Amino acid sequence: MPFIVIDAGHGGWDKGVSCLGYHEKDIALSMANQVSRRLRELGFTVKQLRDSDTDAGSATNRGRAIAHLKPDFALSFHVGASGGARKKQGSDIIVPIEKSCSKFESSLHRCLEELKFCHRVYSKEARTQNIINRSSTKDFRFAESKESPDYYTIMREAWAGGIPLDIIELFYLDNEEDLAKFFNLEESYVEAVVKSLALTFNVPYDRASNRTAPAASYYRVVCGAYDSLEEARQVQAMVQKQFPNAWVQPVDEERR
Ligand SMILES: [Zn+2]
Repeated sequence: MPFIVIDAGHGGWDKGVSCLGYHEKDIALSMANQVSRRLRELGFTVKQLRDSDTDAGSATNRGRAIAHLKPDFALSFHVGASGGARKKQGSDIIVPIEKSCSKFESSLHRCLEELKFCHRVYSKEARTQNIINRSSTKDFRFAESKESPDYYTIMREAWAGGIPLDIIELFYLDNEEDLAKFFNLEESYVEAVVKSLALTFNVPYDRASNRTAPAASYYRVVCGAYDSLEEARQVQAMVQKQFPNAWVQPVDEERR
């Protein structure tokens, strides 16, 4: 069975991008856990570099760990921040420069286009920081014009060990509309990744039957606002205990 390594970006002390009360490390972890669980259901062998809120090491160490594990393919989940006034939206699929885009990238690209949630597919060079567009079918081929290795450390290290790793920037966290849209279609997104991997490795895909159709809207339930951080944490713990599957926004100390 195909062997996939899943990396949830950041973790522990390293929150990644923090915006609108959410941290990149939590969103990446939630996605990584869901994708891993579904892949295992389909029979894939899956190794997660982290499956809880821990520090999984630097990008260099993660890339080397992946090269050492020798999977067939690896994915690293992140979210983006566009900064500035012009807000970006949707997902970025980042591919190693020297990798010919496979069934995986073309399938995921197509699925995300259907969800109206694809921003771009690209590679990025280290020295020139050039962005090479890999979105169109002709550019899915190996990028022969490369002048330097990949910009992203984890990708470069994994590739140096012969392992293709794609980075998926799920959405832009500093765009509230994008955040809401992502939560709306998160389950379909998980299935898009899983389905694309199944297609790539010729594993029969079947959408889990116990899953409900994605909700048409996204409703946020707020449990309260508290003067005391301790009280807020108690309520958070209570909610988490009673609804283990609920997404609970981390209590943010800086927002007291
Ligand atoms: Zn990140």
